[in-house]
This record gives sequence, structure tokens and C-alpha cells, in this order.
Amino acid sequence: MSLTFKGGLHPEENKITAKSPIEVMPEPATVAIAMSQHIGAPCIPTVKKGDYVYKGQTVGEGQGGLTCPVHSSISGTVIGIEDRVGAFGQKVTHVVIENDFKSELLPEIKPNSKSLEESTFDEIVEIIKSAGIAGLGGATFPTHFKVASAKGKGEKLIINCCECEPYITANHRLMLEKPEDIINGVKVVMKALDLKACHIAIEDNKKDAIKVMQEKVGNENGIDIKVLKTKYPQGDERQLIYAIDKIEIPTGKLPADVGRIVLNAETSAAIWRAFHDGIPLVDRVMTVTGDCVAQPKNLIVPLGTSISDIISYCGGYTGEIEKIISGGPMMGMAQWDETAPVIKGTASILCFGKKNKTQPSENCIHCGKCVGSCPMHLMPLYLASFAKQGDWESCREFDVLSCVECGCCTYQCPGNVPIVQYIRTAKGKLRK
Ligand code: SF4
Ligand code: SF4
Repeated sequence: MSLTFKGGLHPEENKITAKSPIEVMPEPATVAIAMSQHIGAPCIPTVKKGDYVYKGQTVGEGQGGLTCPVHSSISGTVIGIEDRVGAFGQKVTHVVIENDFKSELLPEIKPNSKSLEESTFDEIVEIIKSAGIAGLGGATFPTHFKVASAKGKGEKLIINCCECEPYITANHRLMLEKPEDIINGVKVVMKALDLKACHIAIEDNKKDAIKVMQEKVGNENGIDIKVLKTKYPQGDERQLIYAIDKIEIPTGKLPADVGRIVLNAETSAAIWRAFHDGIPLVDRVMTVTGDCVAQPKNLIVPLGTSISDIISYCGGYTGEIEKIISGGPMMGMAQWDETAPVIKGTASILCFGKKNKTQPSENCIHCGKCVGSCPMHLMPLYLASFAKQGDWESCREFDVLSCVECGCCTYQCPGNVPIVQYIRTAKGKLRK
């Protein structure tokens, strides 16, 4: 029987690219490498206008604390250091690079000469850090920090291959096409943290991927496949841990506090490439889809490629575009500008026409659907109402800070109340 959690819902899957093999998108003429692609302190550019940069060269470094470096995804010349609107709608410094189309890799990048058995915790964490790896499922938490903070606490690794958001199929294709990279990344993290167990968690709507991963894992010591019920938001860390281990993480605590470390499938593959080949994070797999894009695809895209270049490669728009979303339709961010570049957390670009438009309203009919679907067992209708009145203390009392912003409440609401927007405002006020 498939494992699951309480609450959640079943949005239409719309995984129309599930059978589309991953294509390598040709490098664009320019990339804009955002200095803030992760949760934590932004990077400071380490190059200046006119500099030549190699593919894989560090072009931005953090100044300590929670951060990780960013690298050039192409070789060429820096033509500007500019403040632009980034993927989250805020002004972010970008290093803009003009491509020389030579794809010259930084000469220092070499395959690792040390075996995994010989490698220490510190060496592995340093490799993950130098490679600039941040949670590729969309959360963009610096991965070296996650691994380092699990030292001595972690009992089990969980690889999140749920991909529960509608439309997105990047992890699904990665499991089918590069399962060894994911599994080898698992071994690197297990070695670093001296873990004896890892569950690779896959929803039961990806039967082909379950089969491939089961075959590839075979009799690997301590690694197994957990099949989870297809339900949104199964990929949320808290729901994942509950579904597998029936452990609830208290508000304000992290998976490491209950002995778990959760990594996304592509993050695990990126760890392997960094460990084995010395390749920093310069590109990522993403899904480009929606009812307004001519040729929906799964692509490997250089970081810093603009949305407009990606859409052109996918044959352009098929009609009048209403909304472009970076990420999934439930938790993604609507984009202001087609020049916004792909960052580490961009798992998909969704293009929707007018027929998907909904008009927000304030017509709560007290149906309770938002309460029934909330995986965190909150009272979304009250949270929205308190936030609307600016009653932040009541929001706190009703545990608004536990909201994982999954969007189930808003999706279910027959009154089209923009519940999550209210909740985000309340959380922002309380955190200030
Ligand atoms: S209140 Fe938060 S956690 Fe609950 S359904 Fe709404 S967005 Fe999800
Ligand atoms: S789902 Fe919408 S209409 Fe129903 S109780 Fe919640 S906020 Fe009100």
C-alpha cells in the first residue's frame, strides 16, 4: 500500500511532458547570473565588466553565513554588472556574460582523484559548498549547510522524488534517464554523514521511474524505494517524513531535529557530478509547459538563460499569454518580466493563457474546504480573515508561521479568496 499524509488534495496532474526525453538546450547568446539564487545572504560579484570568464568559474561569492557561490554557465566576456528584476520579483545584482560559444571549462575543473571511501566529511561538505549546490526542488537552501548541520543528528536520508506539483516532470525524467547520478549522490551524502539508511521516495503515478530506480538500487546496502500515494503536497518535507516515518516535525523545528535529512532528486545528482567530475552547478533540468507554449519540453538549461530564450527554443507562444510562472502552479512565482533568468530553484516555466484566469474575491461562504485540505491542520479561513484586518497577533495565535504555503486552501476555495497571499503578508509582518 502507498504511504501518505493527512489532508492535501488531488489537482489535475497535467504531466504532459512525462514522456518527453530531456533535451540539452543550446547555450544562449548571453546569460545573466543572479547573485541571489539561494536562501540566505546574496553573493558579491567576483568579476568585473570586461573580464573573460570560463564555464564553471566562480562569478559571485557569499560573505559568510548562510550562502553559496554562483558560477558562470558559459565561457565569454562579462558585459555588465546590473541590478535587474529577478525570479522573485525583487531587484537582484546580475553578472551579464556574452557567450563566445567556445564552452571553455575552467582549467582547474578536474575529476576527483580521491575515492569516496577515502573522502572525509569536511572534504565532501567543501566540495558541495564550492560547487554552489542549493536545493534544486525550488527551496534553494544551500546544500552544504543542510548536510553540515545534520552531522551527529542525521539518522536517515530521504531523497524526494515526489514531484507532486502538477505539470512538472523534470525529476521524473531524471529518474528514468540518469538514475545512477541520483543513487551515487545518495552514497556521497551517506558516506559524509555515516548514515546507514536512505529512502528514495517516489509517488505512485510514476510507475516506470519506480521500476527503473528499484532495478538500479538493487541490493545496495541501506537504500530502498518508498512508494507514496500521489497527493499534493506529498513533496513537502514535513508531509514526506510523516508519510514514511509517521513523525510530525514541531513548528520551528527542522527535519534534522528529528534525525532526517531530505534532499531533492536533482540535488543528489548534482552532488554526484560535483564529487566525481568536479563540475559546479551551472545548469539544471527543468520542464517548460502550459497551454500557451508551442512545444512543451524537458530541458537542461544553462543557469542565467532568460525565460524569453527558453520560450523561443520551445517554439514560442501559441496564444495570448496571461501568466508565466517560475515553479509549479501551486507554489511557483508569477514572473514580471521575460528577461528574468533561470536560477538554481527554477524547476519549471509554465505559460498559461486567459482561460486559466481567476478573479480573486472575498466571498467566504464558510464551507470549510480550506480546513479539510490543509496538511498542516490550520484554519486558513480565519488566518485570511485576521490578516485582512491586520490582526497579526491572532494570526500568530492560530499558528500562521506553521503554514508551508502549499496553496491547497486557495486551490479548494469556491469563494476564490486569495488565502495564501493574506497568509504570506501575515508571516512577513510577524517575521519583521
Ligand atoms: S494554510 Fe498554508 S499549509 Fe494550510 S493549506 Fe493553506 S497554504 Fe497550505
Ligand atoms: S474554502 Fe474559501 S469559502 Fe470555504 S471556508 Fe475556506 S475561505 Fe471560506
